Amino acid sequence: MAKSLLGAAAQGTRMPRRMTRPFALVTMLAIAVLLGTWLAARDEIETTTYSEFEQRLAAGDIDRVTIVGDTISGHLKSPAPDGARTIAATLVEPPLADELRKFNVPFQRVPQSTWLGGLLSTLLPLFLIIAAWTYLSRKMSGAGNLLGLGASKARLYMQKDIAVRFTDVAGVDEAKAELQEVVDFLRNPRHYGRLGARIPKGVLLIGPTGTGKTLLARAVAGEAGVAFFSISGSAFIEMFVGVGAARVRDLFEQARANAPAIIFIDELDALGKVRALFPLAGGHEEREQTLNQLLVELDGFDPAVGVVLLAATNRPEILDPALLRAGRFDRQILVDRPDRAGRLAILRVHAKKIRLAPGTDLDQVAAITVGFAGADLANLVNEAAIVATRRDADAVTLQHFNLAIERIVAGIEKKHALVNVRERELAATHELGHALTALALPGADRVHKVSIIPHGIGALGYTLQRPAEDRHLLTRTQVTEKIMVLLGGYAAEVLVFGEPSTGAADDLAKATDLARDMVLRFGMDDAIGPVSYEGSPVLTGAPAEPAGALPPRRTWSPHTAQQIDDAVRSRIEAALERTTALLQARRSTLDRCVSVLLERESLDEEDLLSLVQEPTSMKAAG
Ligand code: ADP
Repeated sequence: MAKSLLGAAAQGTRMPRRMTRPFALVTMLAIAVLLGTWLAARDEIETTTYSEFEQRLAAGDIDRVTIVGDTISGHLKSPAPDGARTIAATLVEPPLADELRKFNVPFQRVPQSTWLGGLLSTLLPLFLIIAAWTYLSRKMSGAGNLLGLGASKARLYMQKDIAVRFTDVAGVDEAKAELQEVVDFLRNPRHYGRLGARIPKGVLLIGPTGTGKTLLARAVAGEAGVAFFSISGSAFIEMFVGVGAARVRDLFEQARANAPAIIFIDELDALGKVRALFPLAGGHEEREQTLNQLLVELDGFDPAVGVVLLAATNRPEILDPALLRAGRFDRQILVDRPDRAGRLAILRVHAKKIRLAPGTDLDQVAAITVGFAGADLANLVNEAAIVATRRDADAVTLQHFNLAIERIVAGIEKKHALVNVRERELAATHELGHALTALALPGADRVHKVSIIPHGIGALGYTLQRPAEDRHLLTRTQVTEKIMVLLGGYAAEVLVFGEPSTGAADDLAKATDLARDMVLRFGMDDAIGPVSYEGSPVLTGAPAEPAGALPPRRTWSPHTAQQIDDAVRSRIEAALERTTALLQARRSTLDRCVSVLLERESLDEEDLLSLVQEPTSMKAAG
């Protein structure tokens, strides 16, 4: 604690002006009180011993006596040489005074220091008010205290010798592979920089809560054997403007002093979220200042020192774009909910901590915990152990897991957990429709991953594609193939289930947009011809207005409008027909892939290719 107070004092000199305002107020009040007390004290009163007071009274120097509490004061007939008009003494009780008088020596009762007492009694309420105010502001802002304003709490969160290793984090192999580089760098920053290799300064871990982002960050520190500073984004935001910024500065200073080190900022989005919370207390300005300071630190620090900043968010969309620019959090790693194999691996990690009955097949647990994140699984293992203990079992069995799942599922959002069987089949068929179409078309982007792990509201799966190379221009064939891949989900649904579902709405909208662009903008439709119907200002011939400036002008006749509609529709229909034919020819592959995807929940490019196993001659057929 003493250390943190010192830190606060050192910080004080750098506090921005806005933040010193409360201190100025307090100082002024204190000075006013001191001055008042001092003036009162130096009023023209001469204090004296009680014996002298009696003597002067007897001598007739005093014309009026006043007694207030313990103090007896007398008004002097003529002022004393030093200008005093009154002399005062503290009363001595009569029996004692009588006794003392006999000895003919001066005697007095020393009054308690009224100066100090007065000061205290004035300042005490003031201090109480300040304390209450600090407490309240701390409550409102969730952190901070008046004395430790600028000091970062990172000190409290610094840990050395972290025991977490990559083996403790399961089911996130891609993320681990990417972070291995950071570990290598931290182990030997100088060696790494030898060939000019640039390590990312900031790595952003993106993913839902409980998927192990914090655990991963700790594992990086553990693997590299470096100090680990962690702080939550929300802890930066204080009620007083400038505190968050001072805290950021302090955090980086400490990390540099302890380098090599990792700084981990959880809930990075809190810096982007707080905007309107305390408009009067300067919340907005505070957020901006804190964010700016973070950017300054990010831009200014030299990675060769051996400090790497890791941050986590589950809401990347609300992050300030400035954070994601090159040289800042320029590496982003997705930490997603685990698939079945991932869940099994995570269950194994946590099952080590309990006594598992021999022969318990954790894969069966993995199979029925669709949508569980790592934290849910850790919790599940613990719950199963509790159930087993309560039943006086010798070891935890599958039955205990099942009971625990029943208890837990109620607490996990429905949309993520245990999607119904029919919907999963539909999702798997739909996603593989996209994937197989893409695989069959030579010009389409490569399929990187197919997944039916529930993702956000309404999305039951996704197919990720990656372009094989950078492309700036697309030929007519390539645009057509894009439309076909988009329609692949719809085609597969109709092919397998006899009718489409609402899940294809997004795909249809995108496919239709592309087809319309082919007709209206790219001159790719023979019936319409090489004419652009994009509404640009007719008279001036100037380039089209920036997007959103004007509603697009319709520059075609009603007759052409009909032709355009027909052309768009027939493009879509033709593409759908080709896609359906293509999938029909691969129906057995589709069924095979669907059953594997249902089991594994996600397939990467390699899995898919080995499942498809079709000779390249099929590709040519597309
Ligand atoms: P996040 O930071 O993504 O919200 P955490 O890292 O705090 O998630 O995870 C909370 C806990 O859940 C961890 O301490 C760990 O016990 C467990 N957990 C989460 N993900 C994993 C994983 N991939 N492997 C093993 N355990 C995990």
